[in-house]
Amino acid sequence: MSGAVLQLANAATRALRAYDPGHDLPALRQEYGERLIELGSNETSLGASPAVAAAIAATLGDIYRYPDPKGGALKRALAAHLGVASEQIVLGNGSHELLMLIAQCFVDASTSVVYSQFGFAVFAIGTAAAGAQAICVPALPADHATAPLGHDLAAMAAAVRADTRLVYLANPNNPTGTWFDDAALDAFLAQLPAHVVVVVDEAYAEYMTAPGANSAVRLLRDSRHPNLIVTRTFSKAYALAGLRVGYAIGSAEAMAVLERLRESFNVNSLALVGAQAALADAAHAAHIREHTAQEREWLTARLRERGLRVFPSQTNFVLVDFRRDAKDVEAQLFRHAVVVRPMAGYGLPTCLRISIGTRAESERLLEALA
Ligand SMILES: *Cc1c(COP(=O)(O)O)cnc(C)c1O
Repeated sequence: MSGAVLQLANAATRALRAYDPGHDLPALRQEYGERLIELGSNETSLGASPAVAAAIAATLGDIYRYPDPKGGALKRALAAHLGVASEQIVLGNGSHELLMLIAQCFVDASTSVVYSQFGFAVFAIGTAAAGAQAICVPALPADHATAPLGHDLAAMAAAVRADTRLVYLANPNNPTGTWFDDAALDAFLAQLPAHVVVVVDEAYAEYMTAPGANSAVRLLRDSRHPNLIVTRTFSKAYALAGLRVGYAIGSAEAMAVLERLRESFNVNSLALVGAQAALADAAHAAHIREHTAQEREWLTARLRERGLRVFPSQTNFVLVDFRRDAKDVEAQLFRHAVVVRPMAGYGLPTCLRISIGTRAESERLLEALA
């Protein structure tokens, strides 16, 4: 290959690399069957509400039609659930799409974006794809008392420049599992100039149990934060990663900006009804949250008993520091058909990110580590 076609791509695209999925999971499922323990992608092992399959089955006959381009029914259900207006919601083909869309709408080569070291990987990709300048702010130190490697909100506020148009935060953050509380976010927002849009990526917000740490949606029930956008997803706590549904919540004005560039039929008709059914099954959602909180505590204790460093987490995964090159540990786990996520790409080569699965899955993980 001469690379001649690559040279035809725009500068932003030339600077990007295609997504590396790591293991070929479909092939591994074929090879290992039930024996495969998948703890690498923060999926919820408990599975989706049974109401989702029923809703999808009831909609299959209509798949020759385009979906509702407004996603009206799902938006109304979300609005009621969150205590905001329908006009304050934009749906996405996963929240990944929305994180990219926000960058596309608000930044370009003449502007900059602030995010944290060890922040969610899509923040850097969205920034680069839009051709904007990245301001990657050093994370809190590894020995920080409450949020080791977490967002340094004071430093991030100080890093905002006249040309900054976007700040990406994740609460809780992937891959560190760290979080910040309401008071910290309020203080951060109070320091920001009016020319900056703030995104709080809350992919794991449903899992938060720490006192004083709530969803930033609480700030969107009045008009005081027109530049604040919260992103959420059905992929994690609603166990619908395969359906691809996420949503953004913000001021009606900010959402109208995103609507200008949103692909008209970005969320398919099965995903729309599936997400609505999942949202309506509050008991299943509560079960996932309670199970995850309990198993997170159990697995954290077991790993710490083995002398490993487990970072505090408010998510459905833990970041574990093995204090040596984790490549060997990952390979050992893989020989036992346990898949976890290496962290070298994030600059944490001694760490692995491990999803909270069922008790049986956690036990298989611990056996494989032994
Ligand atoms: C998983 C994840 C997302 C994206 O999830 P979607 O499946 O695209 O909705 C967004 N942010 C963080 C921090 C995540 O871990």
